[in-house]
Amino acid sequence: MKNTESLRQVLELERKKGYADKAVSGGLDRYLHKQAGQIRQTIADQRLLATFDSLNLGNSHYASWDIDKRKKWMANIFDRLQELEKTKKDKRSVVKAGNGLSARVKPAAEGRNESLSSAVVAIKGITPNVANKLSKLNVKTIRDLLYFFPRRYLDYSQRKPIAELEEGEEQTIVAIVWEARVTTLGNRAGTEAIVGDETGNIRVVWFNQPYLARNLSTNARVVISGRVSSFKGQKVFESPEWELLGSKELIHTARLVPVYPLTQGLYPRQVRRWMKELINGWAWQLKDFVPSEIRNRHHFLDLPQAIAQAHYPDNWSMAEKARERLAFDELFLLQLGLLARKRDWQESQPGNAFGADQGIIDGFLNCLPFALTQAQERVLQEILADISRPKAMCRLLQGEVGSGKTVIATIALLIAAANEHQGALMAPTEILAEQHFNNICGYLSTVGTPECHWEEQDSSLPLGTSSAIAARSGNVKCYAGFLSRPLTVALLVGSLRDSEKEDLHSQIQKGKVDIVVGTHALIQEGVEFRKLGLAVIDEQHRFGVLQRQKLRQKGFNPHILVMTATPIPRTMALTLYGDLDLSVIDELPPGRQVVKTKYLKPEQMGKAYAFVRREVGCGRQAFIICPIIDESEALEAKAATTEYDFLSREVFPDLKLGLLHGRMPANDKEDVMRRFRNGLLDILVSTSVVEVGIDVPKASVILVEGADRFGLSQLHQFRGRVGRNKDPGYCLLIPERPSPEATKRLQLVEEIHDGFALAEEDLKLRGPGQFSGTQQSGFPELHVADLSNSRLLELARREAIALMQSDPNLDRGEHTPLAKRVAQLWSETTEWS
Ligand code: ADP
Ligand code: MG
Repeated sequence: MKNTESLRQVLELERKKGYADKAVSGGLDRYLHKQAGQIRQTIADQRLLATFDSLNLGNSHYASWDIDKRKKWMANIFDRLQELEKTKKDKRSVVKAGNGLSARVKPAAEGRNESLSSAVVAIKGITPNVANKLSKLNVKTIRDLLYFFPRRYLDYSQRKPIAELEEGEEQTIVAIVWEARVTTLGNRAGTEAIVGDETGNIRVVWFNQPYLARNLSTNARVVISGRVSSFKGQKVFESPEWELLGSKELIHTARLVPVYPLTQGLYPRQVRRWMKELINGWAWQLKDFVPSEIRNRHHFLDLPQAIAQAHYPDNWSMAEKARERLAFDELFLLQLGLLARKRDWQESQPGNAFGADQGIIDGFLNCLPFALTQAQERVLQEILADISRPKAMCRLLQGEVGSGKTVIATIALLIAAANEHQGALMAPTEILAEQHFNNICGYLSTVGTPECHWEEQDSSLPLGTSSAIAARSGNVKCYAGFLSRPLTVALLVGSLRDSEKEDLHSQIQKGKVDIVVGTHALIQEGVEFRKLGLAVIDEQHRFGVLQRQKLRQKGFNPHILVMTATPIPRTMALTLYGDLDLSVIDELPPGRQVVKTKYLKPEQMGKAYAFVRREVGCGRQAFIICPIIDESEALEAKAATTEYDFLSREVFPDLKLGLLHGRMPANDKEDVMRRFRNGLLDILVSTSVVEVGIDVPKASVILVEGADRFGLSQLHQFRGRVGRNKDPGYCLLIPERPSPEATKRLQLVEEIHDGFALAEEDLKLRGPGQFSGTQQSGFPELHVADLSNSRLLELARREAIALMQSDPNLDRGEHTPLAKRVAQLWSETTEWS
């Protein structure tokens, strides 16, 4: 065959050059890794294929060997090649004789010229039935299967002479079968064998597998891998992996053996065989989309090799290298997509450059009853710098509950208004929208004195009252004294009457409203702005990238400020919000007291209830949080309802309790929150759905049941809901099972009051899974990459930024495969073309 001929030529040249790895530029290994798969495609005969595979050319380590080993290896290859070529020739003549028409053998590949996007049934041994099972694991194409990685590996690489086997460890022997027979093991038929090597013999048993006996013929050489145990004082292998030592490469024994996530009816040995077939036959076809410059810079494996090693690693270090490369790919593609989106947003249209009038800012700040913290000051400057450029701002503002994000957002909205643009602030629920609306009006009215007055209502009324009126009237005007004209702030929520909504829509459209505060209602159809210049989104985790995009489409490339009170470690923020610049308010206003946090044992529940009762007795309010139930929201709701019944009847029959859970209709949720906030309830029994940002000034204690089930960050967020005014706040943590780890984690919450520090601890202890946002819609899934690997994350981001600078549209020829992969990954969410 042509391919084997060129292979032979290269090898002969290498031999002539004294085994110095000088025959091909880039090294022999690289050449072989590339060629092996292609040659393989031309071999149809199964036996020959096995011979060829046993050469393991796709996975050679020529470069790492000394001359002696190279010579021996080469001699062996030549022998095998000869065999291959000889058989080919025979075959060819048969064909020739057979039809007399053509001397050419059809390349075997013709029958199997499938591409990587072919269905998995193209793989030998994968039946439609199996394909069906695989599709349940989301594996449909050959490419999917290449990316269907083992969950872990069994280390069967430790080969030992039988005499040196140790009990309890995973070890491998190469032995001769002396005897193998069907026998009865624990009442069922099984196989028993005696195998031996030059150092001794050992008994091997397989339960329930009598048919194995047939495969282990006397004098066969067999490789056995597994744990050695002891039976009646004798060492024995119990149901180990086994493989006959023959021409085929070992895939079940004597190496790191992959363990795949299995579905019912797929057997490990089968899956491993398909995978080997797959790696040998297809991995080489994968185009390496990562530019070689980047690969070289970080010594990454090339893609086919990384895939091959991820399935069948030569050793632990190669397994790690493969994982590193594949994890990099995921993070790199992710970053590219995020950066591309940011670029599209910022550069598809010019943004609105707002002049930041210092007079207005000073006027506003001077009227506040407090001075900004240093962190607020710094973040304000970052935002002002952004919005003064003719490029849309894309910024994430992180800061704990109460750190003063809303004031900063208000200043930005004010600047937009002063620049004759509209602003919008979007919150995840009505109650939070109302809260923001009242706060913003409050700030603006203070500033406006003495001219300022409320046309419709006084903001100092209880929130419920004022918001009811606001909701009824649709908007509230306020006059800011230092502006040349009145400012209009409006509240737009779903519960407005249709006529009110329409009225408000038309005012927004005519530009009669300067600042609109609202819920999702803001991004619904029918809402059109005359000139939206700034959109602020509060509590990011409720909004996916898609909603952000919708809001953006409402304006002429408005500036976007996303605010979140969820502390996320920096590296995770870079990933989850890689399309946003990051600002952090990492300081609370002075004088804030920390919420006193106490870890109690389950049997101290009575004490906790007594404490709650005491607080309520002093005119304060309490939250009681019910445990998370992983299985379903329905079960969780049920458990919360039971707990609520129990507490209302048995523990606090004389107090007013409310119940809040995720299964309640939105209106009922809002209603119970509102009643609690307005002081009509003493205790709110809730699942974890209770709002992060909700402000209940009189709530002084939060009791968390099943505290061991929550992430540290989440516990920290819970306690942010109490102690909002002068009264001290308390947080009581009661675990379900006070295991030593739970105790340790909960003690961290007692001690650490910095949300970011707790988030870092959480990431270390529990991994990234529990940070909301990782499952955001429109966000590509990560299979290999670990979001807590900050080194690799930073590296991927750095490379992505550099690449976007040098080839912003990825339209250089060598970047075509990369552009394709990015587009594929982000197909639902980006307008990358
Ligand atoms: P966040 O939106 O980050 O939860 P807010 O902006 O609602 O925080 O601020 C929480 C409370 O702290 C508000 O009552 C606000 O007026 C007040 N506040 C904000 N900044 C300061 C500051 N620098 N000094 C004192 N109080 C402040
Ligand atoms: Mg807030």
